[in-house]
Amino acid sequence: MPREAPSFHPEKSEGLEDAFPPKIGHSGQVSVYDMEEGMRYVCQRCGNCCRWPGEVPLSDAELDRIADFLGMSLHDFIAEYTDLRLNRNGLTLIEKPNHECIFLDGIDCRIQAVKPDQCAGFPNQWNFPGWRKSCEAVPVPDDTVSGAGRSSGDPVPSPTRPGDSA
Ligand code: SF4
Ligand code: SF4
Repeated sequence: MPREAPSFHPEKSEGLEDAFPPKIGHSGQVSVYDMEEGMRYVCQRCGNCCRWPGEVPLSDAELDRIADFLGMSLHDFIAEYTDLRLNRNGLTLIEKPNHECIFLDGIDCRIQAVKPDQCAGFPNQWNFPGWRKSCEAVPVPDDTVSGAGRSSGDPVPSPTRPGDSA
């Protein structure tokens, strides 16, 4: 979420910009901010990151694996659940009218097992300045996650799929 310029839907997020940052699509150049040394952050399932307006970009591999998980053809999955990104560079998951991700069901992700890397990587693999105001993940000592102890603002590799940190 630098990444590229914010690509959320400003017309759909009126009044929400101050409350929530956009789910900005990363473009392989991501950073972490406000991370405590030697800690990782454990998701508390508040669902905020699935509710704020913005894009969840999808790679070809992600499109394939989500469609397969849902038992849908790739064509049907794309038609039903995705939209063209505002920058016209690929596809994003669509939102509900209230800005929630289409796959959010209460506090559960309907595609948790195969959720996009952008989702799995937040907030440990990437985040944005001020993310802790909107995310309830709690820091715990971490000796296992690669990259623990990064300094705030350090560039990190593109997100991978950690053990469902989000
Ligand atoms: S795919 Fe799942 S984890 Fe990602 S934004 Fe949607 S509901 Fe949240
Ligand atoms: S990653 Fe943070 S914002 Fe997202 S559900 Fe977990 S605690 Fe909430």
